[in-house]
Amino acid sequence: MSNIIAIVGRPNVGKSTLFNRLTESRKAIVDDYSGVTRDRHYGVAEWTNRQFTVIDTGGYVANSEDVFETAIREQVLIAIEEATVLLFMVDVTTGITDLDDEIAQILRRSKKPVFVVVNKVDNNDLHNDATEFYRFGLGEIYNISSMTGSGTGDLLDEVIKHFEDIPEEESNLPKLTIVGRPNVGKSSLINALMGKDRNIVTPIAGTTRDSIHIHYNQYGHEFMFIDTAGLRKKTKVKENIEFYSVMRTIKALEEADVVLLMIDAVEGLESQDVNIFHLAEKNKKGIVILVNKWDLIEKNNKTIQEFEDQIRNKIAPFTDVPIIFISVLNKQRIFKAVEEALAVYKNRSKKIPTSKLNDVLLPIIENNPPPSIKGKYIKIKYITQINASSPMFAFFCNLPQYIKDPYKRFIENKLREHFDFQGVPIQIYFRQK
Ligand code: GDP
Ligand code: GDP
Repeated sequence: MSNIIAIVGRPNVGKSTLFNRLTESRKAIVDDYSGVTRDRHYGVAEWTNRQFTVIDTGGYVANSEDVFETAIREQVLIAIEEATVLLFMVDVTTGITDLDDEIAQILRRSKKPVFVVVNKVDNNDLHNDATEFYRFGLGEIYNISSMTGSGTGDLLDEVIKHFEDIPEEESNLPKLTIVGRPNVGKSSLINALMGKDRNIVTPIAGTTRDSIHIHYNQYGHEFMFIDTAGLRKKTKVKENIEFYSVMRTIKALEEADVVLLMIDAVEGLESQDVNIFHLAEKNKKGIVILVNKWDLIEKNNKTIQEFEDQIRNKIAPFTDVPIIFISVLNKQRIFKAVEEALAVYKNRSKKIPTSKLNDVLLPIIENNPPPSIKGKYIKIKYITQINASSPMFAFFCNLPQYIKDPYKRFIENKLREHFDFQGVPIQIYFRQK
């Protein structure tokens, strides 16, 4: 995976409309979150079974005239460095503007693939007008209508040809990464855990060149830390710290097996953190939440419970996630954080034998069958875990199309109750037998 499509372009060309179209078509299939956060500018999308991350760069530019052009210029530079493919979006109804020309000039120096996407080509008459955009000298143009979706399939067919496959890593060690907003204490934790061994750093070639893998082997635990936060690239990042750190987070997250999402106890879980949480969840990564700087909190015997409740409320419905209260400063529970992450790794690689699954779940299902629909009874016959990198279960039944989300959730809860999948997203499919 680890393929990122960045949509760049000046305001109002339709970037966020395309972003929503790409990420929500998938959402309709697999996503049943109740409280999706609206201020989300990156998300997971899928085309012909290839999963990738899309980022709408427009969400990260301050909307005031004076910072505008520098911010966009800088953003395009970051996208050139960090993304796999860039979509340069322009608007057929306005034609080429000065800012389009400026962006094109930067993009011509990109070594990454750039696709000129001419948006708002809502009808055939507009195809002629679109030819003007060949003038950029950026190769083929792709006419689309983000509003209706026309042309987006042809575009994606071409785009995915440029995806990179992550080279198989030689080591089978668990890969952990610490993500979170700036200043929550991520590097402090790595330093505290590594002690003087911090210099055992192995940069990896190929697509993963932007991250360093730190080999940890102490106190009976061995794993890899994927670290990108510590790296600062040549690009001058001034206006776009958040955009830059989001790109970095996406990459680290996609390489990892388990994500340690660190938050600041004083600030609590903010919407950005929730976005990262959902991204990890959609990527089927193991998740541990670390509440750091616990030393700064005045506590009584209810404080931990209140914190936990608040956090679980915000990340619902996937709440079966360990939450650890730590203080890197006082070295409080930092090894527990590691142990918990490794336990989640184990849960994620767990394989339940088919006989055991059926012995445990079939009687439960018998007592609580899916509600019948239009007089038709749904009969679940057997269950098996599918071989995949994260837990995935197939329930074979006569009428899979009649099984609704509440029943899926009931089944998921039973799986969690009986087979400890703490920290791990579970996928459940109902299939025709
Ligand atoms: P952004 O600033 O680049 O993210 O642009 P938006 O996605 O917010 O879109 C700007 C405006 O263009 C909105 O009013 C959209 O409804 C409209 N728009 C987006 N895509 C299309 C399209 O394919 N056709 C038409 N006619 N309008 C579109
Ligand atoms: P990063 O940006 O997430 O890597 O955060 P840093 O590791 O650079 O830490 C940011 C600041 O928080 C530094 O001043 C740290 O000393 C401080 N800090 C980190 N952990 C703790 C903690 O547990 N308690 C307190 N009080 N401060 C901490």
